[in-house]
Amino acid sequence: MALIIQRALLEQLRQHGEQAYPQEACGILLGVIAEDGIRVQSIMRCDNACSDLKHNRYQIGPADLFRAQREARTQCQDIVGFYHSHPDQPARWSLTDLAEAYWTGYAYVITSVEKGKAAATNAFLLSGEEQYKHFEDESMIVAEDFEDKTAGLGRERC
Ligand SMILES: [Zn+2]
Repeated sequence: MALIIQRALLEQLRQHGEQAYPQEACGILLGVIAEDGIRVQSIMRCDNACSDLKHNRYQIGPADLFRAQREARTQCQDIVGFYHSHPDQPARWSLTDLAEAYWTGYAYVITSVEKGKAAATNAFLLSGEEQYKHFEDESMIVAEDFEDKTAGLGRERC
């Protein structure tokens, strides 16, 4: 299932990665599951809750998750994924990312930030459960403007 994200939102999460550099930035993707893919409709910046190793680890705290769930509900949306950045590392998931990923069926977006500048951004879908869990490459469709198509989508689900 493709991840569909508006260019402005993609730029926001990439900029967050640049601002947090040399630490990892992280946040939550809110949106809806549509027929043609996972549509991101807003992003929520989170503080990296890792107590140390913020340059190569990230953690989204329970308070931020709760805030995102509440925010999503008021917008008739759901949490659909997460994003984080990799300072001076490729935009590929790490073994730590896999070990700490628990949201099966959700998108994980990773942006490589090279010397403070956002480089590649890739999306992965967490599939399988427990010892069978794994990341699959997820195609990302960057929409210039999908306001018309998503208007009302969330409300139908609500
Ligand atoms: Zn990572």
